[in-house]
Amino acid sequence: MPNTMPSSKVDVAIIGGGPAGCSAASWLHQLGLSVVLIEREPQLCAALQTLQFGQDWVLGAPGQNLATLGQQYARHIESLAAIQVLLGRSSNHLDWSAAEGWRLQLDDGRGLNARTLILATGQKPLRPEAFFPTGAAPNARLMDALSLTACREHLPAGRILLLGGGDNAVENALFLQARGHQVTLWSRSDWRAQQGLVERLQAQTSGLSLRPRSAMPSRLSADDQGVSVQSQQFGAERFDHVAVLLGFEAEPSAWLLVGDALQRAGVTAPSHPFRDEPRFAPLGLFVAGDTSGRQHPSVQTALGDGVVAAKAVEAFLRPLGEGQPSPALRRNNRQIIHISGLRFGANLGVLDFEREGPQPIQVDAEVNLGAQMVVSRDADIGHVLDYRRVRAIIIDECTAEHTDLLEALLGKLCTRLMKLPGVAGVRIKVTKLEIFPDCQVAISAECGQW
Ligand SMILES: Cc1cc2nc3c(=O)[nH]c(=O)nc-3n(C[C@H](O)[C@H](O)[C@H](O)COP(=O)(O)OP(=O)(O)OC[C@H]3O[C@@H](n4cnc5c(N)ncnc54)[C@H](O)[C@@H]3O)c2cc1C
Repeated sequence: MPNTMPSSKVDVAIIGGGPAGCSAASWLHQLGLSVVLIEREPQLCAALQTLQFGQDWVLGAPGQNLATLGQQYARHIESLAAIQVLLGRSSNHLDWSAAEGWRLQLDDGRGLNARTLILATGQKPLRPEAFFPTGAAPNARLMDALSLTACREHLPAGRILLLGGGDNAVENALFLQARGHQVTLWSRSDWRAQQGLVERLQAQTSGLSLRPRSAMPSRLSADDQGVSVQSQQFGAERFDHVAVLLGFEAEPSAWLLVGDALQRAGVTAPSHPFRDEPRFAPLGLFVAGDTSGRQHPSVQTALGDGVVAAKAVEAFLRPLGEGQPSPALRRNNRQIIHISGLRFGANLGVLDFEREGPQPIQVDAEVNLGAQMVVSRDADIGHVLDYRRVRAIIIDECTAEHTDLLEALLGKLCTRLMKLPGVAGVRIKVTKLEIFPDCQVAISAECGQW
């Protein structure tokens, strides 16, 4: 049985009990930190319960449906008595202070102090106001991504319009067409789905009407028998069902509370669209799973994100020790090796006199080592990239053989330097110092991350 009586003070509060929140909770528990997991639905992994179809995305669980996997995750968390799980609960007010961390007001009136907060609230389908006006009664014939997924296996074959051109829309079009529906797929842009899906779509000869690059309908109006669709391009049309599959956005509820709390504390609040950002970590705020705006949302990536968030929380709560800088200062954003004004003779160029022998060049280079500890672990050169090595590689690459084009030399230098351990990006500039009597000529290049 889950522990449902929260202590008033914990190390970590997690809002959202999907795969990301559950994964973070399990890791935090193993790291010996106290955790409250707050889920607004009456069960953990609630969003997975409508996903009853077999899927192959989760390694080790081929053909398994996500509803079953979600139940397994929930059972695992509920078996860990030390994790306090609050089901059917949410927070309706948050406060933040540098000294105390996060203060959560729960919707049952209880309060809770947490030194850190993880947002794992997932995302929700986009429901444009034009198609789902506020206050309009829901109609089963006009669906979003979630309601279509919940009923698509049992939908009686008929005329169905899908609005959207991404993976979700194209995959549903193929699924429904294969079940005998007359599918119209309508996208405002070119197909944005993965190539394999688009190829399958374009190979279909019947049951599918494709409308790429078409302005969206101006009006959808659903009744008991079907949905009337009005558009400038296609006039008035009638479908049995319409599904709006225009993408997803971060579930805003907890983000908005965080934004309000930070604004009251005088800290720049997260901006919309909500995304995970490194600047949140010094506030003891961490983000995991789909709500982080990650590139490839899936159960597996959400589980991984939960682990990363748990380790980031641990690093925040357990600094390296006395004399170490605070978590906010422990890492800089980027460390760069600069080599400036390195001059030597190189065999370079296509002009006749350039082929006669080396000419003087100057190389300026920046090597991006990415985020590094502000205070280095120790003085051991083995832990850092030795700049003598960078200098030697530049000279070696420029003098080893004759190179006709400066551009080719830049390419060779970038390739060699990018292979060095820990190098995230290279900027390099090569200057021919004496090519003309009245000027120098240089070309620069940039590769990797900057
Ligand atoms: C139609 C569809 C089909 C999919 N098919 C697959 C598939 O085949 N394979 C696959 O790997 N992935 C699939 N996915 C993606 C997968 O479901 C998600 O990537 C995954 O569930 C993300 O996990 P999460 O924990 O980040 O978010 P979620 O699973 O969305 O969990 C977020 C949780 O937070 C709770 N919550 C939100 N706001 C609050 C709040 N304010 N207070 C308290 N609780 C809150 C929600 O109730 C929810 O339980 C599919 C998704 C959809 C929509």
